[in-house]
Amino acid sequence: KAAGKGTARTFTAEMQSRVQQRVRLEARLRAALENLAGLFVFFQPICDIATGGVTAREALVRWHDGRRWISPADFVPVAEETGLIDQLGTFVLDTACRSAAGWQDGARVAVNVSARQLGKGTLVPAVEAALRGSGLPAGRLEVEVTETALLCHGAQAITELRRLRELGVRVALDDFGTGYSSLAHLRTFSFDKIKIDGSFVRDAVDRADCAAVVRAVAELGRRLGVVTVAEGIERPEHLACARDEGCAEVQGYFLGRPVPRDEDVPLIARLDAQ
Ligand code: C2E
Ligand code: CA
Ligand code: CA
Ligand code: CA
Repeated sequence: KAAGKGTARTFTAEMQSRVQQRVRLEARLRAALENLAGLFVFFQPICDIATGGVTAREALVRWHDGRRWISPADFVPVAEETGLIDQLGTFVLDTACRSAAGWQDGARVAVNVSARQLGKGTLVPAVEAALRGSGLPAGRLEVEVTETALLCHGAQAITELRRLRELGVRVALDDFGTGYSSLAHLRTFSFDKIKIDGSFVRDAVDRADCAAVVRAVAELGRRLGVVTVAEGIERPEHLACARDEGCAEVQGYFLGRPVPRDEDVPLIARLDAQ
């Protein structure tokens, strides 16, 4: 019984320290957003598999809190839970559009939009403001959403995404295949792009079932007139697989890591060499 109590106490203490850690992270993120200090947007190239040209760059947020880099996988969920995601989202949208407006190659910029940014009527005005402020044409902006956004906010989310498309902004379905009902969402909204989660392409190299999934999604994309992007290309074999299975575009460390600006010139030579 004593041991049981002790265990319970340890558990509570652990939970408490985790909560405190979250609260501290939230406070530091709030301060970073207020002072716009330590927050950066990196860009990772997305390439046309046939020509090797950079069609777009994905904006990926980075945070250095003065001591270390904190991964978006750790702080984006905190921003979502605390409502800071709107401020963070606006920062990324504005920064990404301003940067893209200066790109000489005319590539588009792809910005991740969290499910929590949808369904509130704030996303469309934020996008319009980012375009106006930067002078970037709407046709050079893409937003990436996961199916969670559609699951959580249904009709309202679809109305907002439709409005973005009317403006000329492209909409991509991110992490395709990792959710519960990805196919159903293709019927409720006409996406411009489907991003096949990196796990499928990487596993496809030695798993026939994963290769079949990549091929089927690529085929689906062609039939629906939707561009398919294979994510998470880390090795030449992954690139060869994405090409064999018929994906239109590719993204991953092999083609270029996320970098502070568009330092991705040598990658065209890499694709050509394949
Ligand atoms: P995501 O949208 O699926 O972004 C792709 C993630 O995969 C990025 O991680 C990218 O750096 C990483 N990646 C790229 N190439 C490769 C590869 O070849 N292999 C592997 N293993 N990984 C690769 P990152 O930047 O750490 O972002 C993680 C997630 O955080 C993103 O997943 C996205 O869900 C979220 N996120 C990042 N930036 C933002 C943002 O500005 N707003 C919102 N709402 N979410 C963001
Ligand atoms: Ca994404
Ligand atoms: Ca993704
Ligand atoms: Ca993801």
